Amino acid sequence: MRAIRAGTGIRSWPSSAKLLILSSLVAILGFSIVCGSVMLDMRRGEETLARRSNENLATTLDADIGRTVEVYDLSLRAVLAGLTMPEIGQVSREMRQLILFDHAASASYLGALQVFDAQGNLSIDSAALQPARQNSAAEEFFKVHRTDGERGLFISQPAPYRGGTAIMLSRRITDSDGNFAGVVAGAIKLSYFDDLFGRLRLNADEQITVVRRDGVAILRAPSNPDFDGRDVSKAADVMKLLARANGFYSGIGAIDRINRLYVWRDSGRPLVVIVAKPWADIYARWKQQALRIGSIMLGLAVFITAVTLFSAREIGRRARAEDRLEELATTDALTGLHNRRKFDTAIDAEWRRAIRQSRPLAMLLIDADHFKQFNDTFGHQPGDQALVAIARCIQASAIRAGDCAARYGGEEFAVLLPGVSADEALIVAERIRLRVAALPADPGALTISVGVTSMVPLVTMEFCELVEAADKALYAAKAAGRNQSIIAVPPHLLMAA
Ligand code: GH3
Ligand code: MG
Ligand code: MG
Repeated sequence: MRAIRAGTGIRSWPSSAKLLILSSLVAILGFSIVCGSVMLDMRRGEETLARRSNENLATTLDADIGRTVEVYDLSLRAVLAGLTMPEIGQVSREMRQLILFDHAASASYLGALQVFDAQGNLSIDSAALQPARQNSAAEEFFKVHRTDGERGLFISQPAPYRGGTAIMLSRRITDSDGNFAGVVAGAIKLSYFDDLFGRLRLNADEQITVVRRDGVAILRAPSNPDFDGRDVSKAADVMKLLARANGFYSGIGAIDRINRLYVWRDSGRPLVVIVAKPWADIYARWKQQALRIGSIMLGLAVFITAVTLFSAREIGRRARAEDRLEELATTDALTGLHNRRKFDTAIDAEWRRAIRQSRPLAMLLIDADHFKQFNDTFGHQPGDQALVAIARCIQASAIRAGDCAARYGGEEFAVLLPGVSADEALIVAERIRLRVAALPADPGALTISVGVTSMVPLVTMEFCELVEAADKALYAAKAAGRNQSIIAVPPHLLMAA
């Protein structure tokens, strides 16, 4: 009996189910790739957007701070120019104030312009006719000008200034011989920067850093006392980066260890503005979207996979049911051999294959001897069991892959033996006959007669010729006394056993 395809494993699923699974996998993979690339695009978009907005902010701040420094520096230069006038020593204090400071820039955040002599003593103060006693020889800006020679405008780090904090802008006073003659200085109070940055709505962990061209950090917003005056030039490759007119880099904050995008615009002014935004902020919205899209995709993938697996299992189940139905439709219920319908299909196919391959096709036609009598003697039930026993003998003898054993009708059986010559077929027939003859004679002895034939069919021939030849051989076997096999050799019939 042919084994019905069993099992529920993927391997046993039909190719249509496997194709379904494969196409679903490809679809899921395709969707994931598209989704992934869209999300990466979005991520890049967020990055570009953050860079641009930080660049714009840096540009605006740089312009504002640069202008303030420039305007105040013009006042310093005006004082320097005034000090070189030979008459300045002879005029009254009031007149001197007018000459030196009349055009000086004034604003609430700008401190007084001060002139210090070569020893650091405050000699002239725009805020007072009689300058207070003050010596700034120890201050950074004074020491720089005294030791460095002519270096133009110098901007100091924030330092206490008249009850607050300010950065000092200063220039060297050089006498006609080129010697150091003091310093002219002016303060920009940090309230200027507080006002400027206070107008911005910075997120937590966003930073604006004002760095001097030599890499010394002047201040930072939000203010951080740990930071002011820090020499960032030593951190990372800041100086190398600042050498470029503008740009960006990613770095981890030295103090708070937060990973940020740093963007700066350098317009060539003495101070450089660096705007930093945490990467976590930049990607926050993207992360939310990615998470939403990702979970929708995951849900869809799980859904598609579940539906696919369910459908594939269903296809497999139906295929197995169809196989089983086909099996039932082509099997003889009593003996378990193929039925006549299946035999007719098989002989047609094998006949055509034999024509194609020019190979022999053998057929045995088997008939139980005196079976009517057997039935009459022992009853129909034992008769049925005898047919089952004969079927087993046939089954046990026709064992090659292409062999097809069938119940031909009533107590007749047929066996197709592809590629088998008449002599070889006779051997099989005899094997069957002897097996039947050797069956226990309970309730009665059983014998069969076998008609044997084999042909190498031609295109012009029909398979009914094979059946007819086998039938004739069987008839001959009956006529010759039964319990024997006879080969049909048309037109003569040979007695073989
Ligand atoms: P012969 O040797 O010439 O073949 O004699 P026979 O009696 O076998 O031949 P016949 O064709 O006259 O009788 C066939 C008998 O087989 C008739 C019927 O009772 C019996 N038979 C056919 N099909 C079945 C079946 O399915 N079950 C049983 N028990 N008997 C069957
Ligand atoms: Mg018969
Ligand atoms: Mg018979």
